[in-house]
Amino acid sequence: MDIKERLNNIKNEINQAEEKSGRKAGSVKLLAVSKFHPAQSVIEAINAGHFLFGENRVQEAKEKFSNIKNDYNNVNLHIIGSLQSNKVNKAVEIADCIESIDRFELLCKIENQCSKLNKNIEVFFEVHTGEESKSGFTDKGQLIKCLDSLANKEFPHIIPQGFMTMAPFTQDEKLIRKSFITLRELSLEMQKNYKDLKLDELSMGMSGDYKIAIEEGSTIVRIGTAIFGERIYN
Ligand SMILES: *Cc1c(COP(=O)(O)O)cnc(C)c1O
Repeated sequence: MDIKERLNNIKNEINQAEEKSGRKAGSVKLLAVSKFHPAQSVIEAINAGHFLFGENRVQEAKEKFSNIKNDYNNVNLHIIGSLQSNKVNKAVEIADCIESIDRFELLCKIENQCSKLNKNIEVFFEVHTGEESKSGFTDKGQLIKCLDSLANKEFPHIIPQGFMTMAPFTQDEKLIRKSFITLRELSLEMQKNYKDLKLDELSMGMSGDYKIAIEEGSTIVRIGTAIFGERIYN
């Protein structure tokens, strides 16, 4: 199967999962995660009509997407990997959205660079919801500090979208589901407390667990392997 066929398959599977869990058709977006795959694979996906992509490393994203974004102006790129502070400027340059906000300091650095470039950027707050995974907020107080600052309009170039998580790497479906439920409940609580912020997007679900994520309310699934094939790490 080529990338176009795999994309179509996944989109069908997503539609079926939406229907099965009583979700509105089209309520789940597909982020095609192209990390470790060449620009040519991204272009194949674009030619198949797909424009939403995710990369987890800033340097790789920049090398791959600088030209692509010049050539195709409706391509939308999300950074989904944990972001070192010294990579913020590059990330802001290349990305439309950063899904891996896991500390207050990042917001300060992002706002600073966005205001220099006069660019707005979307963000998700990554939350630690299961053992094993190391990334994401573990301290709710820190997350609240971020949301308070946004609510006080301290970061005018940063447009919050919602929350992101990675389920634990396990075969235990119960644990995976628990992680997604934790994120959804946190999201509902925060939406109630911050009515003026847009926080209703839930980025959860990968190739192995996206159907469970859709059942639990995901609005954006991040899928790499099932579209582009196995990654070859070297
Ligand atoms: C790589 C990655 C994905 C996609 O994983 P697959 O299992 O290949 O679908 C999703 N989210 C994050 C944060 C990733 O780093």
